[in-house]
Amino acid sequence: MEFAIDEATRRRLDEARELGEKEIRPVGLEADRKGEPIPVGHAFFDRCLERGEGRTRWRRPGSPRAEAPAPRTTVATLLLAEELAYWDRGVIIAMPGPGLPEQSVLGMGTEEQKERSLGPFVEPDRPRWACFAMTEPGAGSDAAAIRTQARRDGSGWVLNGAKCFIGGASRSDWILVQATLDPSAGRSAQRAFLVEQGTPGLGGFKVERKMGLKAYESTSFTLEDVRLSGDSLLGGEQRYERKAGFKAAMQTFNAGRPVIAANAVGMARAALGESIRFARAHELLARDRIRDRIEAMARKVRKARLVCLRAGWLADRQRPNIVEASMSKALAAQVAQESASLALELIGVVGGAGDHLIEKLYRDAKAMDIVEGTGQVQRMIIARQLVGLPR
Ligand SMILES: Cc1cc2nc3c(=O)[nH]c(=O)nc-3n(C[C@H](O)[C@H](O)[C@H](O)COP(=O)(O)OP(=O)(O)OC[C@H]3O[C@@H](n4cnc5c(N)ncnc54)[C@H](O)[C@@H]3O)c2cc1C
Repeated sequence: MEFAIDEATRRRLDEARELGEKEIRPVGLEADRKGEPIPVGHAFFDRCLERGEGRTRWRRPGSPRAEAPAPRTTVATLLLAEELAYWDRGVIIAMPGPGLPEQSVLGMGTEEQKERSLGPFVEPDRPRWACFAMTEPGAGSDAAAIRTQARRDGSGWVLNGAKCFIGGASRSDWILVQATLDPSAGRSAQRAFLVEQGTPGLGGFKVERKMGLKAYESTSFTLEDVRLSGDSLLGGEQRYERKAGFKAAMQTFNAGRPVIAANAVGMARAALGESIRFARAHELLARDRIRDRIEAMARKVRKARLVCLRAGWLADRQRPNIVEASMSKALAAQVAQESASLALELIGVVGGAGDHLIEKLYRDAKAMDIVEGTGQVQRMIIARQLVGLPR
């Protein structure tokens, strides 16, 4: 394997570092201290747009090639994801853009759906968001158990149900809602629907309280007799017949696992960096037990980064990476928690005061083991793959 960094990626990493130090870290600390998500009208989001962020990768058919952003390798994407999360993982999730469901719309949406949902993100006139809603009060890890129901209504659809912990739901222009045509029929009955903000019946938004990653909102909401037109079904009637709804959701998650892992590596590296800074400032580096913790963190960070980059390296070569993607997610999330814990021990009572970056990292890190498939679920996927059982 070869992970040499090309000039363009190196430049992007330098830019991310500068942005992280100047903007991302301070905004993240501010949100954490206030205990609430960065508000929609925050000037940080306007500056994101001015820098060219918050845009879609989609290009209108026939638009000049030069308009499209330069393609980026998965390895380069992962390195950037690590660097940005080093500064604040909550803030990068809060940033505007079509987010998690973009890949599903790109892969499965009709041309008309791409125009409707991604068009406003080509040159956004204001910060815009979109989100993906799978989790329900009674269906988390077992995504096949969702109860939000979609029923035919003439040429359209009616949705009823409830979702929870959905990133950015109340501020999203549209929500890709995963629903079932028949709750007793399992995965094959699932379909994804594009639900626009303001659609009657979509409401009850409640931003959840969280122990960490406070910079972005995680929100519950309800769907009560939400009437949608026929073209709200992702992929249109063709997809209805091909039963590809659950696959669409899983594609969303598969694309995300190594990126979550890279974020977790960045957070672990932040705990390591802060520990060294603290130990140096307090003249603790001569103590064995301090260096012992620093060594443990550095070793874990390197191990997790290597597994993560291997998942990306395989993806860049279009080679199967299910095992590596899940391994990287399971391992890196654990390493982030262990590193934050070791760092908290290292700074001692200072961490207990509740306003140190390491204490924040300790609270932020836990979510990395939960989002987009918990550690246990990743380990189940790995084990099934290793013995040749279907996922
Ligand atoms: C910060 C945050 C952001 C989120 N953002 C989103 C979002 O944007 N969109 C979205 O749809 N969802 C989102 N979620 C929800 C997240 O995907 C779920 O929390 C996750 O799938 C776990 O589901 P659960 O919390 O219901 O736990 P459960 O599934 O109830 O699991 C509870 C515990 O049991 C374990 N467990 C479950 N099944 C098994 C098994 N078969 N074998 C062994 N152990 C098992 C789990 O690992 C876990 O430790 C978010 C969650 C958080 C915390």
